[in-house]
Amino acid sequence: MGDQIQPIRGMNDVLPDSRAAWATVENAAKDIFEAYGYKRIRIPALERTELFSRSIGETTDIVQKEMYTFEDRNGSSITLRPEATAGIVRAGLNNGLFHNKQQKLWCSGPMFRYEKPQKARYRQFNQIDVEAIGFPGPEVDAELITMSAQLWGRLGLESPRLMLNSLGTPEARAVYREALKDYFSEVIDSLDPESLNRLERNPLRILDSKNPDLVDLILNAPELSDYLDDDSKFHFDNLLKMLDSVNIDYEVNSRLVRGLDYYSRTVFEWVTDKLGAQSAVCSGGRYDGLVSQLGGRETPAIGWALGVERVVELLDAEQLTVTEQLPEAYLVAEGEYPRSLLLRVSEELREKLPNACISMDCMGGSLKAQLRRADRSGARFALILGMDELNEGKVSVKALREDTPQVMLNMYDLASMLLGQLEKSP
Ligand code: ATP
Ligand code: MG
Repeated sequence: MGDQIQPIRGMNDVLPDSRAAWATVENAAKDIFEAYGYKRIRIPALERTELFSRSIGETTDIVQKEMYTFEDRNGSSITLRPEATAGIVRAGLNNGLFHNKQQKLWCSGPMFRYEKPQKARYRQFNQIDVEAIGFPGPEVDAELITMSAQLWGRLGLESPRLMLNSLGTPEARAVYREALKDYFSEVIDSLDPESLNRLERNPLRILDSKNPDLVDLILNAPELSDYLDDDSKFHFDNLLKMLDSVNIDYEVNSRLVRGLDYYSRTVFEWVTDKLGAQSAVCSGGRYDGLVSQLGGRETPAIGWALGVERVVELLDAEQLTVTEQLPEAYLVAEGEYPRSLLLRVSEELREKLPNACISMDCMGGSLKAQLRRADRSGARFALILGMDELNEGKVSVKALREDTPQVMLNMYDLASMLLGQLEKSP
């Protein structure tokens, strides 16, 4: 045996043991999106690098240090998508989806960021993403946030708290940017190298700093809410009223600025304190300038994305156990001729019970060895096919989880017995 090849750091295998938790999150999101009239879109994992540098912004962490960028064999620069919004907007523009139409879309899949791997922060991670394009809001802002709240409710999650802010229009933000620059320039000696860098390029990002030494400085900084334009204020107030009307709690946090350049007006983040250093479970905002920035007409839009790994880890942290589907029945055969008919019997049963998990023994060996495997599979019943059973046109049913005598049933009775069991189970 040679050396085993190791995976790339920060890229995880999602093993079968966690499949039930993943499916719970993915199915709940899909059901909610469909119920709200959002349509699925699938976009490539690779895009031209300029799509991201032009949309996410040259001064953001993602573009400055987190992108997986390569030269294609033909020399063009391509990047593994770090997020989905830019690709969805590109796809919509290329295919005329926004031409005199609004779109409510969702998408899911792996994203790639060259970050320092740690708990709940990986280099390949999965996002579930919703985008509503063409709606000026605030109804759609409220709808999107409500959908995320619905998701926590359906999953039983209690810890996520909603942080909300309005960034106003780019013009209002430009004035605020200058005010921030003046403020931080006066205390320039207290800034760390990262904040100094941000002071020049994008002073709003200093508010995002996680350096505890800067907390007081940031608390005393000018507040964005004092610089908001009237329309943005009206938009934000209406959003808050709609959230109130459906009893969604929120905290207005004027220091929430989000790391991407393309946001305007509404930004929000669902945070938790149960994932260690990582707090963001789901984040999003309005990006009214992005479609035109990527070559389309002025088109208002808003979206959010959640990190699937973080939500799955949160289920565990909140001790919400997700049960996996165990086989209802495990079929074994005694003897060569019965074994040759095992697949046929299994298929007959599967046809009668399309919602049950029916497992067939594919290893053979003694009846004892097969029954041991049946037990280990977690199945409720072992179904035994031997010569006696074949002669009677029946199957022996051995209960593996309770103390009831073994019986022989024909296919019809077997199927209705299993169906009865299925309906009884939670
Ligand atoms: P953070 O502040 O934790 O870096 P972010 O602001 O970069 O998050 P977004 O770009 O808004 O995150 O992505 C949306 C969601 O994707 C986040 O709320 C988070 O749940 C998830 N996410 C982002 N980066 C990672 C990562 N490296 N590993 C796992 N999940 C991630
Ligand atoms: Mg990040």
